[in-house]
Amino acid sequence: MRSPQRNGLLIAVALAAGCFSSAPRAAAIPAPATMWDLSDLYASPESWQVAFEKNRSQVDGLAAFKGTLGQSSAQLLRSLESMSTARQELYRLYVYAGLKADEDRRVAVNQERRQQIQSLGTRYDEATSWLVPELLAVGETKVRAFIAEQPQVRARFDHFLDDVLRAAPHTLGQEAEGVLAASGTVLAQPSSIYGQLADAELPFPKVTLSDGTEVTVDQAAYTRYRELANRGDRKLVFDAFWSKWREYQGTLGAMLTTKVQGQVFAAKVRKHDSALGAALFADNIPPAVYRQLVTQANAALPVLHRYLRMRKRLLGVTDDLAYYDVYPPMFAIADEPKFSVADSQRITLAALAPLGEPYLAGLRRGFAANWMNVLPSEGKASGAYMNGSAYAVHPYLLLNHNNSFGSLSTFAHEWGHGVHSLLANAEQPFDKADYATFTAETASIGNEMLLSDYMVRNARSREEKIYYLGEALESIRGTFFRQTQFAEFELAIHEEVEQGRPLSGVRLSELYCGILKRYYGDAEGVMKIDPAYCIEWAFVPHFYRNFYVYQYATSMAGAAMLTTSVLNGGAPARERFLNLLRAGGSDYPYELYKKAGIDMASPDPYRALVARMTRIMDEIERLERSSEK
Ligand SMILES: [Zn+2]
Repeated sequence: MRSPQRNGLLIAVALAAGCFSSAPRAAAIPAPATMWDLSDLYASPESWQVAFEKNRSQVDGLAAFKGTLGQSSAQLLRSLESMSTARQELYRLYVYAGLKADEDRRVAVNQERRQQIQSLGTRYDEATSWLVPELLAVGETKVRAFIAEQPQVRARFDHFLDDVLRAAPHTLGQEAEGVLAASGTVLAQPSSIYGQLADAELPFPKVTLSDGTEVTVDQAAYTRYRELANRGDRKLVFDAFWSKWREYQGTLGAMLTTKVQGQVFAAKVRKHDSALGAALFADNIPPAVYRQLVTQANAALPVLHRYLRMRKRLLGVTDDLAYYDVYPPMFAIADEPKFSVADSQRITLAALAPLGEPYLAGLRRGFAANWMNVLPSEGKASGAYMNGSAYAVHPYLLLNHNNSFGSLSTFAHEWGHGVHSLLANAEQPFDKADYATFTAETASIGNEMLLSDYMVRNARSREEKIYYLGEALESIRGTFFRQTQFAEFELAIHEEVEQGRPLSGVRLSELYCGILKRYYGDAEGVMKIDPAYCIEWAFVPHFYRNFYVYQYATSMAGAAMLTTSVLNGGAPARERFLNLLRAGGSDYPYELYKKAGIDMASPDPYRALVARMTRIMDEIERLERSSEK
């Protein structure tokens, strides 16, 4: 079962240090509700428990269908419907348990409820583990005949069944499948060994900053202090942090190599032509998408280099730009802008007006109800997410709104997920509503872009305009270029193993250095990359997630193209965009994009994003030259 807890991709919003307070004040509208109402799910913890017991017997009853799927199309329908009913309730139970647990992580009884539902999830997986092998044994001809025969099977389960049949060439005999299943735990070990070292046992160094502050440069401190204005301090932090990772280069290299070898092994056993092909198979994404992304990011490197030269000028660096110059904000501003929750609602509605009435109606409906847990509080889960898995209820959102522009942007982002789920759940049967990660971030990043454009248009001064443009620029560098650079590295290390070449910590750093130097224009004199920092690969936990990061970059490109076409293409383009959201998971995500007019394997979406980046830099430079206030 796919996890119903949908956090989506976490798109980092680059936060610079402060800017103007610019929010036009809100008209008199009622103060928004800041706490979600979970009674829409279950009236009380007790009624959750009652539903849980009932669901458990439903789940246990599913085993009765084993061995019957091939009997008739009516029997197939009965089986799939029973599983669907059980799963829908299971998701709802999950949502309640998860949200309740995140309200306050210190409340033991709420954490226990989450464990309780997780074990029921495992029980569901076990109770239905025979489903896919049995469908494959029934065979394509018969399953397709059943789909044609039963309108209800067609309407609700045709895509699921097609997805199952697609896996037939990559499914092995019972004995081999058993061996593979048993090897799963071993193959997952590199990731937990990595977590143990990187998050717990690595002895991070201490440094003394120029103002006398003593800092232990762990991962959180590194992220914070790499933004320091004092260049010497940044270098100090970089040198200390990366030299510690380098001490473990051999161990870290062996871990990542083992992880890659495991993926290459699993792909080969399942008769995929490559580890990339195997990873993309799950969502039926053509590997051409991945390769096009890498090609287009490389073609756009002159645009990234222009950005880096702008950074060098704005930071006042007179010798070579260095890798530790990437993070300090380029556009410092006097006062922090503040956006209350009410401001965020009003501005989000205004900024997203180009998406049209059906979209805005979803937002208004959500704002008027108690769907959000907005404000930070002690014990509450950090970060932000939208959970749309309670199909017949409504989406829920967890935010930690702190009135910064970053929280406004996150607000618009998460509501992008919210409206996506709202539209998909309204339009699709439960079995086709859940959408893939590949399309999940389109609406949310699109919202961030429309918000950014709106803030620039409505800024009250030149300085403030530049601030918002600068934020948008940073997010393209951090999401598109950085994540594609990671994606390129990930592909390269898998290909090394596939071609029989040995990997090691030293070799991984060499490969990483080559890519880093190319992206940051070492040969062109844009930035001098110190090889001491080429251990950075060891710091990226996503490399243990099997070709995942590229989706940050493709989502941003898809969002750029969609918002551009909505802004330029009028009502038909808007309808195509809304239809993409309404389609939920009714088709493969690459196909859904195509129906929306975007071929993610073509250069177009990537070029649309690069064009956006160029426009932003043109505008910044124009504003810098102008005497406008
Ligand atoms: Zn998201």
